[in-house]
Amino acid sequence: MLQDSFGREFHYLRLSVTDVCNFRCTYCLPDGYEGKPDRAFLSLDELRRVAAAFAATGTTKIRITGGEPSVRADLPDIIAAVKATPGIRTAALTTNGYKLPERIDTWAAAGLDALNLSIDSLDPAMFHAITGHERLQELLDGLDRALELGIATVKVNTVLLRGCNDNQIDRFLAWLRDKPITLRFIELMQTGDNGEFFRRHHVAGEDLRRRLLTEGWTQTIRARDAGPAQEFHHADYRGRIGLIMPYSKDFCATCNRLRMSATGKLHLCLFSEHGIDLRHLLQADDQRDELIAFLRARLADKKVSHFLQDGFSGGTRHLAMLGG
Ligand code: SAM
Ligand code: SF4
Repeated sequence: MLQDSFGREFHYLRLSVTDVCNFRCTYCLPDGYEGKPDRAFLSLDELRRVAAAFAATGTTKIRITGGEPSVRADLPDIIAAVKATPGIRTAALTTNGYKLPERIDTWAAAGLDALNLSIDSLDPAMFHAITGHERLQELLDGLDRALELGIATVKVNTVLLRGCNDNQIDRFLAWLRDKPITLRFIELMQTGDNGEFFRRHHVAGEDLRRRLLTEGWTQTIRARDAGPAQEFHHADYRGRIGLIMPYSKDFCATCNRLRMSATGKLHLCLFSEHGIDLRHLLQADDQRDELIAFLRARLADKKVSHFLQDGFSGGTRHLAMLGG
């Protein structure tokens, strides 16, 4: 088991497979992807080795993320490779849902257990304003198809944005009455590039939390390898609500995840100053023990908190760099 010096255990890996993205979310890549076109992202074999090494140290869940993971033509192979790794119980994916109805059947057939879809508004015009794409209906159709296919966990990520969607909570709640999904409201996080946007649009999740409790929602007890969301359920709703409040006290105390960048850097925190390059240890299957020893040693450097509440966002310019 991977453990840090504060006794936290790491069962969950967020594995970025590209930092390229085809959306222009206002809080993440407002000017679109600006990286160099010749970036060399981890190959399928390298990704397989990452998955195997983490699984050998107790990781049970791997989330494939990006940038936008679906820009990679070999995404179905990546899903299948993660799923086939002994010890991995959950192969998960976070996506912006581009062309989801055309793709979801292939991903399900590859073994996808959990789908997180980013939908920041249920209003088509606001969805367009936030992402730069008129594709809301496509995402909603893809989500229904994911449910039809029986993907075990289907969640929606919604970043709470003042003046954009914080006045649409009723609409989200009405939608959840009959949708057996979890809708996770995520507090906007400040990154290196979005300071001005953050000051204008950040909303604390606490008001929403109080509203839910007043309206009869009950907080759910969560599994060991679950994320940091506080979850709520209600007898009148098929859907659940998650609240991710990274600025709340003790958020980091339950940290159970590590991150790998698409170029093979280990990030001990979403807001680390920089990643630790381990690509040289991903070149052959017989390097696994060396890689595991390296991981164990580096975990000692993991800090107690992200210090985001002090305005510190480390070297993270935007979350597309690392996958959130
Ligand atoms: N492109 C995929 C997507 O959007 O789902 C995966 C990568 S994206 C970086 C992962 C998640 O991070 C998305 O749900 C996105 O909304 C969220 N995110 C991005 N920037 C954020 C920020 N500054 N604060 C909070 N959440 C953010
Ligand atoms: Fe792309 Fe996801 Fe960032 Fe939006 S949040 S710009 S979809 S990486």
